[in-house]
Amino acid sequence: MHELISTEPRNCDICNSKDLEILFKYNKTVKTQNHLFSFDVNNTICKSCGFIFVSPVYKEKSLNKYYSDTFPRFNGQNEDFDAEKRIAVIDKFKSRATQILEIGANQKGIFFSKLNDKFRKVYTVEPGSSEGHNFKNISEIKETFDLIIHYFVLEHIPNPKDWLSKIVYLLNTDGVLIFEVPTIDLYSSFFEPLALYEHTNHFSCRKLEELCALVGLRLLYCSQNECSRPFGHVFVFCKNPEAQNGQMEIKDEYQSNKSYFLRGLEKYAEYEDVLANTADFVNRNPSKKGIIWCANLNSFNLFEKLKKNNLLHVIDSDPLKSNFFEQLDILVKTPECATVEINEAEYVIICSKIHERDILNAFRKIRNNEDRFKTLFI
Ligand SMILES: [Zn+2]
Repeated sequence: MHELISTEPRNCDICNSKDLEILFKYNKTVKTQNHLFSFDVNNTICKSCGFIFVSPVYKEKSLNKYYSDTFPRFNGQNEDFDAEKRIAVIDKFKSRATQILEIGANQKGIFFSKLNDKFRKVYTVEPGSSEGHNFKNISEIKETFDLIIHYFVLEHIPNPKDWLSKIVYLLNTDGVLIFEVPTIDLYSSFFEPLALYEHTNHFSCRKLEELCALVGLRLLYCSQNECSRPFGHVFVFCKNPEAQNGQMEIKDEYQSNKSYFLRGLEKYAEYEDVLANTADFVNRNPSKKGIIWCANLNSFNLFEKLKKNNLLHVIDSDPLKSNFFEQLDILVKTPECATVEINEAEYVIICSKIHERDILNAFRKIRNNEDRFKTLFI
């Protein structure tokens, strides 16, 4: 079934202006377990204050249907963030909290077990299809908490002001809220958060602080270094009963935020070109034997542009990635298990910039002849 995600009008959440300018508009169709969903993505900037967000925005009901049918994360897949950094910030601000609520917990991995060691009770909320959580929705929660955490969730929320005010309601007086989001000052180095159709908010640190002030939260701490992923910031807010609407000055960030976003878009366009050229090479050479090295977002994006090709193999040194491309019926092999494919390959596509050198070394180590082969990089 093909379904268009329905939308509704959205003014600026911070200054309520309707005066918006479109920055990046596209349509994206996504396959979930049982459906195809189509997103009309309209990234706009508020001309009065510079907040960047999707407008019209996805309706919550339609969005919930999409999230509840997305593929659950593979069990055992490595956590793609630094759990130690999260724990360090929690330790710094947890004070006397004995129970904690995590919103958008997804899989229960190393981070969850560390929380379990630290707190008497860890509550989790997860709207997706993952099992084993206490709640599916924050409106089901009756308890209140000294500490609430969420990581890379707020950028997905279609109505962030309402959502945050519900969270403030769940916080005890003096309670602390710790969360992480991607921030637009880093988009020129990391364009992925800009290019993800699910993201309905693109925050600068200042816009985020202004939004939080509107629901009675006061900023205690903010750091890029201590964020568990390289493309965001960690924020710590406390409940501030004295904070009333309009107490924080709304700064005009139109110029700076627009330029951060446009620089990210340039990077994204360069990446799309590389993907298209690589896919073109593979599609024009269906009889050549090839290897894609790394099962990750880059190779995933590449496969979206490829025709079916039985001579193309995927290799990743992490054995846990073996079923990364399960949906495509492709088994990801470790280099040790793919010596035949490596020796016969006429080209290799390296999908990880940071591991480029290691991958080429591993490739040459297994390959027992020095025949020429073509190397492509994404
Ligand atoms: Zn605004």
